[in-house]
Amino acid sequence: MTKRFIKLFLLITLLPLLAADEPKPLNKPKPEDTEQWEPVPKVITPGQPVSPAPPSDAIILFDGQNLDEWVTVKDKSPAKWNVHDGVFTVHKPSGNIETKKSFTNYQLHLEYLIPENITGKGQGRGNSGLFLASPGGGDAGYELQIMDSCNNPTYVNGQAASIYKQSPPLVNACRKPGEWQSYDVLWTAPTFNDDGTVKTPARVTVFHNEVLVQNDYHLTGETAYIGKPKYKKHGPTPIKLQAHGDPSPAISFRNIWIRELP
Ligand code: MG
Repeated sequence: MTKRFIKLFLLITLLPLLAADEPKPLNKPKPEDTEQWEPVPKVITPGQPVSPAPPSDAIILFDGQNLDEWVTVKDKSPAKWNVHDGVFTVHKPSGNIETKKSFTNYQLHLEYLIPENITGKGQGRGNSGLFLASPGGGDAGYELQIMDSCNNPTYVNGQAASIYKQSPPLVNACRKPGEWQSYDVLWTAPTFNDDGTVKTPARVTVFHNEVLVQNDYHLTGETAYIGKPKYKKHGPTPIKLQAHGDPSPAISFRNIWIRELP
């Protein structure tokens, strides 16, 4: 009787300890869960670079002179990225910048340069990003990836011209580091019902170096590094450029303009 009592006592007192030692659940979401590695988009060579002057109805977001149209995301102070020689270069310590104006649907042109002396690999090589809409400030929004994807393998839904962690580019139309590259984007913002549910998803068409890489892709939500993309109701928002924390040399931008669409 006493033995049985001791056994029962030990079982009751030790059971919680044993339970605490159980292995952690294996289904905790990880960044790797949403990486897609195949199929690898075909590498093609784009034609000669084109740097189109803005049409008369465009809003100029950078004309080579100053960053008057941009602010630092975290405190809305004037953007501190470095303007020089008609271009501007990411200033990583001050973080992401965004437009002062908010936008809904638009056509946008932007040019960027991965420096010739770029270092690092994978996501740590010339990483920046164009957030097509940035409803929540910080790192929130819908990211069109910018990075060096010339002979630099990474998950294909994270390479240059991907909608990050959602849609790989149709082809890899990258130019080499040291050469200017362009994005031409047609963005249709998502619309929402009064209860916050999605009425129509965001849609995007992207040309990378004048080559079609996203063909009316319907987004499944805002970019998520971990977990699935999700929508959260929003209206017009700024457009944001990413100061990625990797230590590779900073990239530069020039000739950015936008045409608002009805
Ligand atoms: Mg990025």
